[in-house]
Amino acid sequence: MLFAASPVCGQDEDYDPEKRLAELGIELPTPPSPVANYVNGVQTGNLIFLAGKGPKRPDGTEIHGKLGADLTIEEGYEAARITAINQLSVLKAMLGDLSRVVRVVKVLGMVNSDPDFVDQPAVINGFSDLIVEVFGDRGRHARAAVGMTSLPRGQAVEIELVVEVAHEAEVRSPTGGMPLEMTYFGTAGWRISDGRVVVLVDPYLSRLKYGGGGHPEDDRPAFARTDLAWSDTALIDSHITEADFILCTHGHFDHLGDVPYIARKTGAKVIGHETAIAILRAYGIPDDQLYTVKGGEDYQFDDFSVRVMPGLHSALGEKHYYDSRRYDDRTDLEAPLRIEQFIEGGSLNFLARFDRHTVLAMGSMNFIEREFEGLEPDILLAGINGSRLGLYDYDRRLLTATGFPPVVIPTHWDNFRFPYGSSQQANIERNLLPFIETARTISPGSTVITPVHLEPIRIR
Ligand SMILES: [Zn+2]
Repeated sequence: MLFAASPVCGQDEDYDPEKRLAELGIELPTPPSPVANYVNGVQTGNLIFLAGKGPKRPDGTEIHGKLGADLTIEEGYEAARITAINQLSVLKAMLGDLSRVVRVVKVLGMVNSDPDFVDQPAVINGFSDLIVEVFGDRGRHARAAVGMTSLPRGQAVEIELVVEVAHEAEVRSPTGGMPLEMTYFGTAGWRISDGRVVVLVDPYLSRLKYGGGGHPEDDRPAFARTDLAWSDTALIDSHITEADFILCTHGHFDHLGDVPYIARKTGAKVIGHETAIAILRAYGIPDDQLYTVKGGEDYQFDDFSVRVMPGLHSALGEKHYYDSRRYDDRTDLEAPLRIEQFIEGGSLNFLARFDRHTVLAMGSMNFIEREFEGLEPDILLAGINGSRLGLYDYDRRLLTATGFPPVVIPTHWDNFRFPYGSSQQANIERNLLPFIETARTISPGSTVITPVHLEPIRIR
């Protein structure tokens, strides 16, 4: 692997749980699916609470039986060890890289026990020993090991745990250079900075409840597409203070909706197609801030260069979506626009070159293969929403055309009608986890990082 990942707080240079797993000859299986209406793990803040798992072997069989009646302590120990491997596979799927584990906090081990059996701790040691072997001191945890008169399907043990994870994933490149800090705003929105320039991609933070979607517990006002566009300026102000460039992939409201306010506030140079630029002009953004492109340009600025690639929009509406409308400088637009007036206007992708790092930023779940060939970005912001499944062999074609990038960060996978802080668990399960699983097979050398809203990722 070209890149080694380690958590931000990592003083211990040797901390590499995945290498430890390999040394132990352990290959993580596909995470077992939940068997009822629950999920494998829930992250809140920097803690992950994992659901209870049992000793399911890779072939699907389980270790059944009662300690003290059917199974010896050694057999129970082995069952607990297999359970640990299963929980590690869940964690790996959620985090992309186990080195994001800062600390294993708490373990609850339940042992299927005959009433006279009292050696539950010796059984659960099978779990704890492996966790400490893999995570070292960070694996030492508080624990309870208790007896149960019965467990689901007669399994020998069931074990749950709580894990603390790094707020920021830090990925180090052996080539050095200035670290790149990348913050995910949700949708296809990013702030990327190498310390010299601050570049925003499709920065959409308002996350309006519009067009009929939204979270049932979200009590913010609902917007119709015919309503006037509105930006949550207080929210934007609390997250965006400066920007040098804004790259706009297309004109839809969940990409361009906040750009008029952000462009005016920061004075950033805006690069977008004619339709996007016409919208910004309508909002009074001065011409010297605006760069109209159509795809094919490769522009050098002082500390930053950007190549623009023509693209394709996501195959919405079961592939029936197509919008040929365009604006230009003769279009009569009056700000504020209605949400529905934020039309696509065509789609672009950007190869943004920073000090030592190149980032290929996508704004939708589609691309023109030959436009990506030969670019070989070291960081790919890969569009990963469900509509990609309407395309032929999307994951493989994308990772292959981009040369199997060392770092892959899924973008546009969340529900952008939910405010920050709402659970994105449904989209994580539906979009992210299956992609991470496939990416691991197609591009085993890539580190896939799962971005968390508003939490910086640092690439060294
Ligand atoms: Zn769109």
